[in-house]
Amino acid sequence: IHSDHSGGLVENGRLMFPTATVYVGKPDVDFWLDPANAERSHLDRRYFDEAVKTVKPYLDAGKLKSFSGETTILPGIVARPTPGHTPGHTLYVVESGGESIEFWGDIIHFGSIQFPNPKITVVYDVNANAAAEQRAKQFARAEKSRRLVATAHLPFPGVGHIRAEDLSYAWVPVDYRWRG
Ligand SMILES: [Zn+2]
Repeated sequence: IHSDHSGGLVENGRLMFPTATVYVGKPDVDFWLDPANAERSHLDRRYFDEAVKTVKPYLDAGKLKSFSGETTILPGIVARPTPGHTPGHTLYVVESGGESIEFWGDIIHFGSIQFPNPKITVVYDVNANAAAEQRAKQFARAEKSRRLVATAHLPFPGVGHIRAEDLSYAWVPVDYRWRG
């Protein structure tokens, strides 16, 4: 739950996807929708306000399902909790026809900086140390599995593989091809 990933769910209080069910890691629901956390957190209050504006309407409408631990959301879509950047941060593994891809959300924000040095964090991390540890863990795992990764904050197409390089990592984007 951060407005750059969930901000389009609601406009002027209206559900933009009224028939959708929104799945969110339970620790994110608990963290972002509790105003007490806004008071004691180092994070800008507006992220909490935005969460109330964009996610809570789905909760109130009975359209939000939270999960804890690795969970199959739908056949072929598995949610895997990867806490750090946010308490309920999750990556999603999608499998179909013998192929698979992972959607990483906020595991990484700046490729040119964080592939060479996964320890460098961003101010938006709820828990910077945990975010850095999580990033290192996922880089190592993805490098080994060679599975395709899609990330939100890398340049277009934002889909590629992670390669080990000496003591760090590098991003190998897929070639963009027109398939029309
Ligand atoms: Zn983001």
